[in-house]
Amino acid sequence: MAKYVYDFTEGNKDLKDLLGGKGANLAEMTNLGLPVPPGFTITSEACRHYLAEGAVPDGLEREVAEHLTAMEKRMGKTLGQADDPLLVSVRSGAKFSMPGMMETVLNIGLNDESVHGLAKQAGGNDRFAWDSYRRLIQMFGKTVLDIDGELFEHALESLKGDRQDTDLGAAELQGLVETFKGIVRDQTGKDFPADPREQMRLAVMAVFDSWNAPRAILYRRQERIPADLGTAVNIVAMVFGNVGNDSGTGVAFTRDPGSGQQGIYGDYLQNAQGEDVVAGIRNTIPLQELERLDKSSYDELLRIMETLENHYRDLCDIEFTIERGKLWMLQTRVGKRTAAAAFCIAIQLVDQGLITLDEAVTRVTGDQLAQLMFPRFDSGTEKKKIAKGMNASPGAAVGKVVFSSERAVELAGRGEDVILVRRETNPDDLSGMIAARGILTSRGGKTSHAAVVARGMGKTCVCGAEELEVSIGERRFTAPGDIVVNEGDLISIDGTTGEVFLGEVPVVDSAVVEYFEGREPDDDLVRAVDRIMRRADEVRRLGVRANADTPDDAARARRFGGEGIGLCRTEHMFLGERRQLVEDLVLASGDEERQAALDALEPLQKADFVGIFQAMEGQPVTVRLIDPPLHEFLPDLTDLSVKVATGDGTDKDRKLLGAVKRLHEQNPMLGLRGVRLGLVIPGLFAMQVRAIAQAAKEVPGAKPEIMIPLVAAVQELEAVREEAAGILAELGVEALIGTMIETPRAALTAGQVAEAAQFFSFGTNDLTQMTWGFSRDDVEAAFFSRYLELGMFGVSPFETLDRDGVGRLVTIAVEEGRAARPDLKLGICGEHGGDPDSVHFCHQAGLDYVSCSPFRIPVARLEAGRAAFAECDSDTR
Ligand code: PEP
Ligand code: MG
Repeated sequence: MAKYVYDFTEGNKDLKDLLGGKGANLAEMTNLGLPVPPGFTITSEACRHYLAEGAVPDGLEREVAEHLTAMEKRMGKTLGQADDPLLVSVRSGAKFSMPGMMETVLNIGLNDESVHGLAKQAGGNDRFAWDSYRRLIQMFGKTVLDIDGELFEHALESLKGDRQDTDLGAAELQGLVETFKGIVRDQTGKDFPADPREQMRLAVMAVFDSWNAPRAILYRRQERIPADLGTAVNIVAMVFGNVGNDSGTGVAFTRDPGSGQQGIYGDYLQNAQGEDVVAGIRNTIPLQELERLDKSSYDELLRIMETLENHYRDLCDIEFTIERGKLWMLQTRVGKRTAAAAFCIAIQLVDQGLITLDEAVTRVTGDQLAQLMFPRFDSGTEKKKIAKGMNASPGAAVGKVVFSSERAVELAGRGEDVILVRRETNPDDLSGMIAARGILTSRGGKTSHAAVVARGMGKTCVCGAEELEVSIGERRFTAPGDIVVNEGDLISIDGTTGEVFLGEVPVVDSAVVEYFEGREPDDDLVRAVDRIMRRADEVRRLGVRANADTPDDAARARRFGGEGIGLCRTEHMFLGERRQLVEDLVLASGDEERQAALDALEPLQKADFVGIFQAMEGQPVTVRLIDPPLHEFLPDLTDLSVKVATGDGTDKDRKLLGAVKRLHEQNPMLGLRGVRLGLVIPGLFAMQVRAIAQAAKEVPGAKPEIMIPLVAAVQELEAVREEAAGILAELGVEALIGTMIETPRAALTAGQVAEAAQFFSFGTNDLTQMTWGFSRDDVEAAFFSRYLELGMFGVSPFETLDRDGVGRLVTIAVEEGRAARPDLKLGICGEHGGDPDSVHFCHQAGLDYVSCSPFRIPVARLEAGRAAFAECDSDTR
């Protein structure tokens, strides 16, 4: 029979699938002998059952009751016992951390009787007991009973006036409890449930339900977390940080999650509970100051942090509570960090002997490397600094100021760059944070909601810029020196330094890009990137080539570590002044005129290839013969029709109009393009092949490969191949001749196609388009956001290769192609070649190389290295 409940002593850190991150790590800490309050975890399997069936699975209630009874026995008191109550928290905890997205209810077990028992336990501290009770009703009301949280907040605010929450006395808090109970009655028509077990049962179901709260769904989509995992629920004996000034609650990192520096990073809040630290209700103090307040807890905390780092062999973040001088650990996990910190920490751990360099390669991702390649602000330009906050999440962001998530979404939807400015953010701001270029808050530390979520998303964030007075209502903020910034004004924020500037600051390349461009590593981050990249290059099996079609791009590709060109598109070579020649080609009335146009194009083409072969210095260059339909090189049908109709057209315009009409297609992507064009326009491909061969003769060591696009049947390839092979032989040039695999038919008949091809390059842009029947030019804007919303796929198949469909075609083509021709070379040149997950797929499918845009080459090199470690996938959440 399924087991749905695990005591903390039964689990361990490897059971995250079942127990969620929080439950698995609480169990791990329990087993390490660290001070964790007793508790147990209800599995995510129970949650999945509940979400699917609308009811908890049979046996769950009995198991929970058994574990609760065991806990009550151990603690010597029962849940909600009137004179000496055991209280519990009910906490969500999914496999992947989703900060603040799901629910937690504290102080379960309080009611009108047990509140007195709690006061007695706390040495007659009535204030604490009533404060805990009002918190229960508030959290329970909002989370479990779905009451608008503002109603409670409002009642609390009007009672507080200008005072802090800690200034409220016992009698006032008792009054507040009555007010809160009234709100519950008004809003639900029922009394607040006094029965402790009923409170617990309802709270568990509310946590299950919170898996499908809109903000949780949005977060999962953003972070690509599967929608069907469900959450585990942890029931933990309460310990209290709000008993008095000898108590408190805090969060800490074992290293700086922003830079990776070793040290003590965290925030502490005296006399507070749970979410108070991250919610920014009072200003926290830096963790170092705890040493002064409570040296023994501080020392113990530091010892525990060291134990955890050595045990997890990674940066950990923790949540703790001190109850009257006794330290309790409430959570730990391998902490989120910025991209820069990920590289620095991985190398620090190598140097400390905690992990190997191979492990370091698996600890960073291509996405993180891509983030480090973002530009930063130019230090050479004049800037008007108006404030400095905390450098919560690095990067340089420029945009118009907005003060609400709605406005951020609205302006971003119109293509504008915005900076979301808030006093502090909460989980409801998620959509605005996603839409914004950067986030600026005036309150909260490095562990505030804004900071944690922005780091997770890789979004630039400055938080706790306390000099700023933010007025959400008036849609403006003021900075020292009477500077007023209104909604719509431009600002620039630097998440690496924490600085805020008025106006737009120009941006420059990142240090990591400069390193790839050839500069010697000269800081810790770049040195870390260098060591990891070198190791990735040593271990990877996949080659990495570039999609490049100019000498400049080709040169950059080489500097970035490309090992050849996997796709040189030739169509841009027919644009600009050369359009004229294409027009001549199209309008040619006979063989002679056509040949004249081709002869004029050939030397130009040849010069293009010479430049590229020179830049690649003997590395292979796969040149794809012209692919798009010819009408793309001709004037627009409407423009030309108007010109001719209004009498402004020349004779040639009239002829051109005829040709444009003749070539017009309803579905050009499925029309006369690629190999079809080569077969229909005599001499076109031959001219290109001749130009390639002539260029190769001129550049010593040049290694051309000729690639035929859009083949669906081997017969097409054979015809073109024969002509090309003849030209190569005639000019005495050696070159491989191969094909793109872009149509499902080519993939399904790969065994035949391979008879005529020395290499395959998977053109997964077209292959995705044709496999799904999705027009690649239209669907993303037309309906992909809806598809993503509906969970049809977690990510666009044009971005990450669809393993089940397109991937299957690739696998078939690899197997059948290699069976027919064992030395067949295999690569990919669709956009997927630079996508981390797709690179892992290509490794697994046995391709020889991936080809991607020059800027993605480092990402592909790193991911190819990571893919070589079997257990490593493309994400490290
Ligand atoms: C492809 O289809 O994947 C490809 C690389 O060709 P293009 O994007 O030029 O159609
Ligand atoms: Mg294509």
